[in-house]
Amino acid sequence: MITKDFLEKLNLDLNSSKSLGLYKKERIILEEQGSNIKVEGGSEVLNFCANNYLGLSSDNRVVSAAKRTLDMYGYGMSSVRFICGTQTIHKELENRLSNFLSTEDTILYAAAFDANGGFFEPLFDKEDAIISDSLNHASIIDGIRLCKAVRYRYQNNDMKDLESKLIDSQSQRNRVIVTDGVFSMDGYIAKLDQICDLAEKYNALVMVDDCHSTGFLGKTGRGTHEHCGVVGRVDIITSTLGKALGGAMGGFTSGKKEIIDVLRQKSRPYLFSNSLAPSIVGASIEVLNIIEETTSYRDTLETNTNYFRTKISEMGFDIKSGTHPIVPIMLYDAKLSQKMSNRLLEEGVYVVGFFFPVVPRGEARIRVQISASHTISQIDKALNIFNKIGKELNII
Ligand SMILES: *Cc1c(COP(=O)(O)O)cnc(C)c1O
Repeated sequence: MITKDFLEKLNLDLNSSKSLGLYKKERIILEEQGSNIKVEGGSEVLNFCANNYLGLSSDNRVVSAAKRTLDMYGYGMSSVRFICGTQTIHKELENRLSNFLSTEDTILYAAAFDANGGFFEPLFDKEDAIISDSLNHASIIDGIRLCKAVRYRYQNNDMKDLESKLIDSQSQRNRVIVTDGVFSMDGYIAKLDQICDLAEKYNALVMVDDCHSTGFLGKTGRGTHEHCGVVGRVDIITSTLGKALGGAMGGFTSGKKEIIDVLRQKSRPYLFSNSLAPSIVGASIEVLNIIEETTSYRDTLETNTNYFRTKISEMGFDIKSGTHPIVPIMLYDAKLSQKMSNRLLEEGVYVVGFFFPVVPRGEARIRVQISASHTISQIDKALNIFNKIGKELNII
């Protein structure tokens, strides 16, 4: 039975996070995901904080494909993959993803969190080394924790530091360099060309978590490896179906067939967790049909991103430089970032303020995320509101 002491401790924790302004409240959306959404309270806001990069989350063709698959393949699998949870469409989606990414084989998971969580432990042991970027995603950090390999951490995107860790770890048997393809708080793109050069020089594997890139980065949207010109040189790509690729849920690991085969044999989130629902699998195949046929979605996203980045800088806001649809507007003050996001919401723009511990102390910011589904007039409307609130709060 839960004790009074334990409950008291929980309440103390909750109250302290409330008083520090760190308590997270969830905003409730009353309809489907999109660029213009109605939120609880009834107001309509422009949504600039979804990972709906290609605007496919509520696309009619994707929703219809989910319904069709529901009718043909049922609601759920009630099984893990290796017992009775693999349908033809699961294999088809794995093959389509391998083809899309130019890899040999792909294994599906219930989430990219599981793909990362289940990657390291089956492949690396205490004789091996994992060399990880300091800003890698929580799921990579957790995956590394579950594995006995020696850990090295290099400063974010710092190739000198990466090289020194490669030198330090030379006595280890197998080594893998691990990086996010795009760092979600900054919109910075990993220097995969230089990482692959170093990996070849020092005989290390390269693993990239491409959750914020798959579907739109690179000129045909293949991801960071295409953007950096290293298709075929990255050994492992993990990514999500929960962002640009339709946004429902699911993740995968893609790469050399021996690696994927070992994961199918030993990766715990694959062996001990349910198969991806058929409707998600069918809809994800439809997403690939759409984006393999045309680059227009990623092209529109690129145009929208350039437009927003240019205009918001011209207004005098301080943004992190780059080309990615994640656009951090730097405020350097946690209270100000909360105040600004609240005022923007009141005026009809939904964005989120990030501050310590999500980003370093003194680096508070508003993170804007651009989508292909935004129209230029929606972006203009948002820009006007940014201008108004920026002046009101003496930021510009
Ligand atoms: C979103 C994200 C994940 C988790 O993806 P899910 O499929 O939602 O579990 C993992 N890594 C990175 C870098 C992400 O941005």
